Amino acid sequence: MQSDDLRQRIRALAAEINEDYAGKNLLLVGVLKGAVFFLADLMRQLEIDCELDFMAVSSYGSSTESSGVVRILKDLDTPIEGRDVLIVEDIVDSGLTLSYLMKNLGSRNPASLEVCSLLVKPERFKVDPDLRYVGFEIPDKFVVGYGLDHAQQLRNLPYVAALKT
Ligand code: 5GP
Repeated sequence: MQSDDLRQRIRALAAEINEDYAGKNLLLVGVLKGAVFFLADLMRQLEIDCELDFMAVSSYGSSTESSGVVRILKDLDTPIEGRDVLIVEDIVDSGLTLSYLMKNLGSRNPASLEVCSLLVKPERFKVDPDLRYVGFEIPDKFVVGYGLDHAQQLRNLPYVAALKT
C-alpha cells in the first residue's frame, strides 16, 4: 500500500466515524506501538469531539506467532465506564490479541466498544474478530512500515510492504 492509498482509505474511514459518532465524545484507544501512525492520521481527520488514550500489550514475546497469552504492559490512564470507546489497531492477524482486549475493556462497562483496524489477515483468523472498521484486507504475509515493525525496525517507512523472507 502506497502512501496515497493509505491517505485515501483513512479519509474514508474517518468520514464513517464522523458520521457514526456525531454528537458523541469518542475515546480512541491506540494499541502501542504499531498503531501510532495510523491513529495520528485517522484522528487528524476526525471532526467530532474525541480524546486519546493508549494501551500497550505484548502477545508474541520474541516469536512471530501469537500465543494467545496477552500481557498488559501499559493500561489506560482513564476509566472508560459509560464512554464510547474505539480501539485503534494496526493489524489483526489471529485475532487473539484483539479478542483479549475486547474482553478486558468490555468488562469495564463502556457505553460502546468498537474496533478500527488498518489491516486484517482473514486467512489467519483463529477467532472471529468483531471489526466495525477495516482499512484493508491483506493476504497471509508479514508486513512492515507505517508503524509496523520487524524486530523494532522499519516502522518509519511511509508505506506498507510485505517483508521478503
Ligand atoms: P494477533 O493476536 O491478531 O495474532 O496479533 C496482532 C499483533 O501481531 C499486531 O498488533 C502486530 O503487533 C502483530 N502482527 C501480526 N501480523 C503482523 C505483520 O504482518 N507485521 C507486523 N509487523 N506485525 C504483525
